[in-house]
Amino acid sequence: MVVFVMTIDITGQKFGRLVAIERHGRAKNGNALWLCQCCCGNTTIVESYGLRHGTTRSCGCLRSETSSQAIKTNKKTAINIGNKNNLWTADGVPVSSISLSKRNHSGVTGVTYLVDTDSWQARMMVKGRYVLLKSFATFQEAVTARKIVEQQYFGSNLQQNMTEKNPFNL
Ligand SMILES: [Zn+2]
Repeated sequence: MVVFVMTIDITGQKFGRLVAIERHGRAKNGNALWLCQCCCGNTTIVESYGLRHGTTRSCGCLRSETSSQAIKTNKKTAINIGNKNNLWTADGVPVSSISLSKRNHSGVTGVTYLVDTDSWQARMMVKGRYVLLKSFATFQEAVTARKIVEQQYFGSNLQQNMTEKNPFNL
């Protein structure tokens, strides 16, 4: 006797941020799997059950956005993030004394204090790609890493390149 498991065709249907593209076999539990395109650009393979029941609504980007949104809207957290007086560098220097820009807590371009992990992140983007994205325990380490990469990529043309080619000021 053959048992037919009914498969509902959801090709092209939208579920939150996902659009079902094609069937992608079956999960071990028997649920149909679907390849979906997320509106963020990612593709993901999920169970149709989760799609049809509204528990799967993105490739995962929705959840991470929601949690960062929660941080912004949580008053206590927002106050702590906004108040530079609460931040101190590893050397014991209050961040407020070295802050130059409202957009970044450190005052050094490309170096940002991460409240969540109590670390300093050095970043540098060249032509839309991060050539440096790393966290350090101390402010000094992050600044040094950033300076080294700056030298590698820009050398003496740093100022010109930063203003003309990097509108994000990273
Ligand atoms: Zn997504």
